[in-house]
Amino acid sequence: MIYHINQIKVGLDYTDQVVAKKVLQLAKIQAKDLKYFKIIRRSLDARHQPVYILTVEIKTNVKIAKSPDIQQYKPPAKVGVSVKILNYRGPEPIVVGAGPAGLMAALVLAENGVSPVIIERGEPALERARQITSYLKTGSLNTESNILFGEGGAGLFSDGKLTARSKDRITTQYFFQKLVEFGAPDTILIDAEPHLGSDLLLKIIPRIRDKIIQLGGTFHFNTKMKSLEISQGALSKVHSDSDVFETTNCILAIGHSARDVYRYLSSTGIALAPKPFAIGVRVELPQSKVNEAQYGSFANNNKLGAASFRLTHKEEGDYRACYSFCMCPGGEVMPCASSPGMMTTNGMSWSARDGKKANAAFLVPVNERDYSNYKDEKYPALEGLFFQEAIEQKIFKAGGSSYLVPAARLSDYLNNKASDSLPDDSSCRRMQITNINGILPNFVETTLKYAIPKMISKLNYPDFREVVVYCGETRSSSPVRIVRTQDSYESISIKGLYPCGEGAGHAGGIVSSALDGIKTAEALLKNISGIKKEPVD
Ligand SMILES: Cc1cc2nc3c(=O)[nH]c(=O)nc-3n(C[C@H](O)[C@H](O)[C@H](O)COP(=O)(O)OP(=O)(O)OC[C@H]3O[C@@H](n4cnc5c(N)ncnc54)[C@H](O)[C@@H]3O)c2cc1C
Repeated sequence: MIYHINQIKVGLDYTDQVVAKKVLQLAKIQAKDLKYFKIIRRSLDARHQPVYILTVEIKTNVKIAKSPDIQQYKPPAKVGVSVKILNYRGPEPIVVGAGPAGLMAALVLAENGVSPVIIERGEPALERARQITSYLKTGSLNTESNILFGEGGAGLFSDGKLTARSKDRITTQYFFQKLVEFGAPDTILIDAEPHLGSDLLLKIIPRIRDKIIQLGGTFHFNTKMKSLEISQGALSKVHSDSDVFETTNCILAIGHSARDVYRYLSSTGIALAPKPFAIGVRVELPQSKVNEAQYGSFANNNKLGAASFRLTHKEEGDYRACYSFCMCPGGEVMPCASSPGMMTTNGMSWSARDGKKANAAFLVPVNERDYSNYKDEKYPALEGLFFQEAIEQKIFKAGGSSYLVPAARLSDYLNNKASDSLPDDSSCRRMQITNINGILPNFVETTLKYAIPKMISKLNYPDFREVVVYCGETRSSSPVRIVRTQDSYESISIKGLYPCGEGAGHAGGIVSSALDGIKTAEALLKNISGIKKEPVD
């Protein structure tokens, strides 16, 4: 019998022997009856003397009495992908986009008998990294290969936080095991808040590509999908800027910055729906102060790593809710752009998370009512996108029209003035000190100026001169959904077209986008194999 034992407290230096001893004590069994044990979850509790809280799986022939912290466990019947196609002779499916969703979809197809063709508008990961380094120095933007576009997708230069909100633990575990197979540390399989960092992602992504190629897949970089050809309601060709690909199946994993594709889809009548998202600013403060707030007197214990935070502020009167998002401990604020004359922010860190600053977005939710003025009959459902673009143009101008992020000390932002300087070690490599008031819509700005001081104060950090506000963060998630069916994952407008990942509005973040890629590929395999359709979720 297999059991899961929860709430096992061990010190930061624990060994297997320590864990085994605790297991025997808690399960009340003898060493000879323990067939195996493995740690399946580990979270840090630093509220007092820091400890890890473990969940441990054990196998024993002895029946253990049930208790709140000990449950019998039945392994799931299905692990990984359930369909394999033998001797597939149909046209190769096209995967548009090599972000987490597209790459995982391509890998699942390739591993299960259907070699895909991947088209990606940007460069392969390492070449893309060189371009980004050059952009950070010069501000010369390559609109096709940048912090948002190129192999690895939007998350290549990220903190690589593997936040997993999905209830589908099995597909999540399958994805994490794939990451480990391609070079991620196996601690991601057990840690409650795993992260990779951009340096590890830069190693992992090319290995995923190599595996797909080894299994028969092909990659076309610097190749942009432009349009689709439809015959009797079904997909027949995918046109790129340099080729025409004959196919009956295409996974569209374009991310939320492919605005040219959204315009194309909208103008050709493919079903889209506007969706809520959130906008705000990126806030930076000393990592040491976050460590002090979270670890107290243990802040200097270097075994604890850089601390993170999650802060929220409830809606109050006319003020909307505000929440911190995509926190990057020891990280760097990224000056993101993918279209000429528009600018937004995000954050990244290296696996060591050893930078002096912590940053996070502070966001305010926006919905269809907020951007209804941006409707354009020529492009149904894209009003949220036009609203984003209008703000990003203001950000670009406020930064001096040179791909610099407008920045100010929080104290000056609150007093509506430009800062004379920023604190030492401010991380953003392209920023312009200026008055950042008036860039964001008034309802967002008033909420941020009300909520951020209260939220930062929860970290016992009242020195608002040392907090930097970078304006602004606009692409927390897609402003539009490409509508698809629940059973086959196909667009409701075109048979054989599979909108997928964050850009399709069905995911947000690396893990959920990758999971959506896996499930979409599984749906496509089922459709090809003629297996009776049932909802994939
Ligand atoms: C700087 C930064 C940091 C982030 N940090 C984190 C984090 O720590 N944790 C987290 O969970 N999430 C993070 N995110 C968000 C995360 O990266 C995205 O949610 C995720 O990458 C979405 O995956 P996706 O595959 O759906 O889309 P994307 O990753 O956006 O990939 C889409 C791909 O499609 C390509 N493409 C677009 N249009 C075309 C076309 N017409 N033809 C061919 N190719 C095309 C793009 O070049 C891109 O490579 C971060 C994002 C950014 C920008």
